[in-house]
Amino acid sequence: MSPSVPPLVLTPVLAYVGLGANLGEAAGTVRRAAAELAAVPGVSGLRISPLYGTAPVDSSGPDYVNAVAGLETTLPPLELLAALQAIERRHGRERPYRNAPRTLDLDLLLYGGQAIDLPTLTVPHPRMHERAFVLRPLMDLAPGLALAQGGLAGLLARCADQAIRRLGNL
Ligand code: ATP
Ligand code: CA
Ligand code: CA
Repeated sequence: MSPSVPPLVLTPVLAYVGLGANLGEAAGTVRRAAAELAAVPGVSGLRISPLYGTAPVDSSGPDYVNAVAGLETTLPPLELLAALQAIERRHGRERPYRNAPRTLDLDLLLYGGQAIDLPTLTVPHPRMHERAFVLRPLMDLAPGLALAQGGLAGLLARCADQAIRRLGNL
């Protein structure tokens, strides 16, 4: 009798993804991208924050529409990143130059409590703690969350110069 192999049960990881768009019909793009992310195999239980409107910070062009999604995933981090980039490409994302305006930007903000430092993936996202357009919607989903740099409310208070307005629920 061959030895029985126990089924591989992957414990889902709670991950957060930042969504942003500032070209074309930005709010619609963010809504569709959230739906596409929810449908990725290995992703479940997606929750999406309200949408926010923000002036570009390190980028240019029209105002951004931003949101954050929380999800459970059994995908390893690089596979989740690849899924995010596939959704970006489907929405016509081009990278003509650094910080160019974009139809859709999906950033992996947090992957459980893991710190990842790979050539193509740094998690926690290294600039999330200084961006109101990440901190504000993240606070809607996880008000008690603390980053290495501090609690969300305290970090957000330091971004008071970044205008952000709530556009409504998705
Ligand atoms: P920023 O990272 O400051 O928000 P950006 O989103 O405009 O800038 P992109 O041009 O979208 O930057 O991404 C550049 C590269 O960043 C990607 O090709 C990807 O490999 C890498 N990258 C590193 N860490 C992450 C992460 N946590 N989420 C998404 N991409 C990441
Ligand atoms: Ca980004
Ligand atoms: Ca990005």
